[in-house]
Amino acid sequence: MKRYVIAGNWKMNFTPAEATSFINEIKPMIEGKNNCDIIFCAPYVTIAAAQEAAKGSQIKIGAENVHFADKGAYTGEVSAKMLTSCGVEYVIIGHSERRQYFGETDETVNLRTKAALAAGMKVILCLGEVKEQRLAGITKEVVSMQTKLDLAGVSAEDMKNVIIAYEPVWAIGTGLTATPEQADETCGQIRAALAELYGEEIANDTVIQYGGSMNEKNAAELLSKPNVDGGLIGGASLVADKFAAIVDAAQK
Ligand code: PEP
Repeated sequence: MKRYVIAGNWKMNFTPAEATSFINEIKPMIEGKNNCDIIFCAPYVTIAAAQEAAKGSQIKIGAENVHFADKGAYTGEVSAKMLTSCGVEYVIIGHSERRQYFGETDETVNLRTKAALAAGMKVILCLGEVKEQRLAGITKEVVSMQTKLDLAGVSAEDMKNVIIAYEPVWAIGTGLTATPEQADETCGQIRAALAELYGEEIANDTVIQYGGSMNEKNAAELLSKPNVDGGLIGGASLVADKFAAIVDAAQK
């Protein structure tokens, strides 16, 4: 049976108390669903409460970003060392909302990725095309270029700690979903770029998730595609039975 990585991105949602009650609600729903790694990436202030609630379950709690410096005058930022000292293993980097609203570029995404990997973290690296790029027929070029720029200087050895989330920007939070065929094709194009960088074996071993309005209705078909190894889920990760249904879809 294929192993999947199903991750929730809570974005700027959930106070510590809300995160605790969400985790308590979902824990029994996903118990024994062992062919999935299940991760929720939480706002920094919510991480400790979520970790406490997740104790004794297979749920891992990650962060939604990390800075590239060890420490210093970077108001509002958090370093990889700070995260690992709080027992945080996973971190999302390069989410399109960070790129769109907070000026992140492939260069800063690359720096953050290398810093997180150097600290021993596992990175969920997000990339994907905007609507105009899809319409112009240059999706393959865009995701290949992002893959290469975002992973520049990342060693083959470190690739075991990299998960790629293919997230077409036009599908995030919009209710629009890539068709299973589009998701499979583009995840395959990312895998081909990985093969150019690291060879076929590492490319085949790398987990590539699809993200973009994945929900309890479309998950089974998306996850059935050979190049889709999991999901990064925003909206549906805030509703326990919807997220649990996505985990169920990965059991088939
Ligand atoms: C995301 O934030 O990564 C995401 C995929 O959001 P949504 O599922 O809401 O489209």
